[in-house]
Amino acid sequence: MSVKVRFAPSPTGKLHVGNVRTALINWLFARAHGGQFVLRIDDTDLARSTAAFEQGIEDDLAWLGLIWDERHNQSKRFDRYEAAADRLKAAGRLYPCYETGDELDRRRKVQLSRGLPPIYDRAALELTEAEKAAYDAEGRKPHWRFRLEGKRVAWEDLARGHAEVDTASMSDPVLIREDGLFLYTLPSVVDDIDMGITHVIRGEDHVTNTGAQIEIFEALGAGVPGFAHTPLLVGADGQALSKRLGSLSISDMRDQGYEPIAITSHLGRIGTSDPLDVAGTVEALGAGFAFSKMGRSPARYDTADLDRLNAQALHAMSYEVAAPRLVALDCDLGEAFWSAVRQNLQKFADVIEMAAMVRGPITPIIEDTGFAEAALTVLPATIDETAWSVWTAAVKAATGAKGKGLFMPLRLILTGQAHGPDMATLVPMIGRERIVQRLKGEAA
Ligand code: GLU
Repeated sequence: MSVKVRFAPSPTGKLHVGNVRTALINWLFARAHGGQFVLRIDDTDLARSTAAFEQGIEDDLAWLGLIWDERHNQSKRFDRYEAAADRLKAAGRLYPCYETGDELDRRRKVQLSRGLPPIYDRAALELTEAEKAAYDAEGRKPHWRFRLEGKRVAWEDLARGHAEVDTASMSDPVLIREDGLFLYTLPSVVDDIDMGITHVIRGEDHVTNTGAQIEIFEALGAGVPGFAHTPLLVGADGQALSKRLGSLSISDMRDQGYEPIAITSHLGRIGTSDPLDVAGTVEALGAGFAFSKMGRSPARYDTADLDRLNAQALHAMSYEVAAPRLVALDCDLGEAFWSAVRQNLQKFADVIEMAAMVRGPITPIIEDTGFAEAALTVLPATIDETAWSVWTAAVKAATGAKGKGLFMPLRLILTGQAHGPDMATLVPMIGRERIVQRLKGEAA
């Protein structure tokens, strides 16, 4: 059986780290098994879906390297959902209900006050044909519920192990609203059947839906796919991230300068037994992916970890990969420059500051003019790879400064910064002329 999975986002908002983690795990699973990854835009809610959000989803996935093998829009497949609904109606599994929201609320309150679970009482199943005709004649439009069998629905969950849902403890789910809108439950199953989806991989907030959806697969006479429900993300504080996800959009992270491989490595490895290190490529991440490495404990999304992985990705980046981006930032000062500075980058754009240290202009920070003058006096005539050690030894002899008291003032004068790349590598790149100017306190 060749694996086929899908990611089914609704284009009603931006992708955030929560739903991208679901996309990523689907993609990784497909890659690990030589399978296919389907992007299915869940846009049945025409009023809330927008073309701009849809485009944003594609841009974000492509940027992360999560390329799809097949792409669909649910809004183009209403005829398939109608046909499935007709079959369920004919089989007596989809039934019309005329209760208003207020009526249902009232009934729930009564049930709760009696200590009963607030489950839909199936009153609509008792309606006679004449009563239904009377409602229709009044112009009342029904919503349609799926009649659950009310049984233990069990599956072997790839992420959770043996899983069970008792559909007797659930309300019959509404599949079609009064206004004719198909809620996600039925289209999702119809598409999974039509597209030959072998595994449904999604967050554990969908476990209950799975109980109902397995019954729908069965009612439509289809085979039931495999399921994996992954633990939800929590923040560094251990609290659920769900409410904060809106502020963790992928497009914002792109604007903040995060590398896609840092994001995918972080989201793909938290909550697994793999070390939390950056992967070389997202393909390599896929080759190592297995649900057996995933625990049931929640996955901890920690910006500090992400920052660390981002720096790791930059430290390992070859000049070949970096060069076009250096050119785009007008910071391509050659391979030696890149090799010298990459260890100091947190975000790629930090390279702008590093380039300024080399070619200027920077504003030197001189705390002691006498020290700067003494250092200038003993500056070697040629600034090559050995110049730094020769020079600092001479400055030490001339001023008596040593250790941090020797190196820090020189760094501040020559780069205008307290931190940065190794000075021995940096000084030949800065060049004698600029070093002299900076020692004199000139912006250069
Ligand atoms: N659009 C649904 C969601 O984002 C899809 C759920 C599913 O993967 O079945 O929650």
